[in-house]
Amino acid sequence: MPRLITEECINCGACEPECPVGAISEGENIYIIDTNVCVDCKGHYDSPRCVEYCPVDCIPPLE
Ligand code: SF4
Ligand code: SF4
Repeated sequence: MPRLITEECINCGACEPECPVGAISEGENIYIIDTNVCVDCKGHYDSPRCVEYCPVDCIPPLE
């Protein structure tokens, strides 16, 4: 299941370079995840890399 970034994002940019598939980019107001590209880090890391690096814990799974 892909993840999304909520509006609590503080635009720190920490997540973007950590994504193994390049799914994260800077949006107009907050960072955004391309849900067609995000693989929840499956096959790359044991846990979602962006979540590990996000200081405000604003990257839940997309329901
Ligand atoms: S969960 Fe993994 S693949 Fe998805 S956006 Fe975060 S770092 Fe990228
Ligand atoms: S690490 Fe979290 S707060 Fe920082 S840009 Fe990414 S989603 Fe936003």
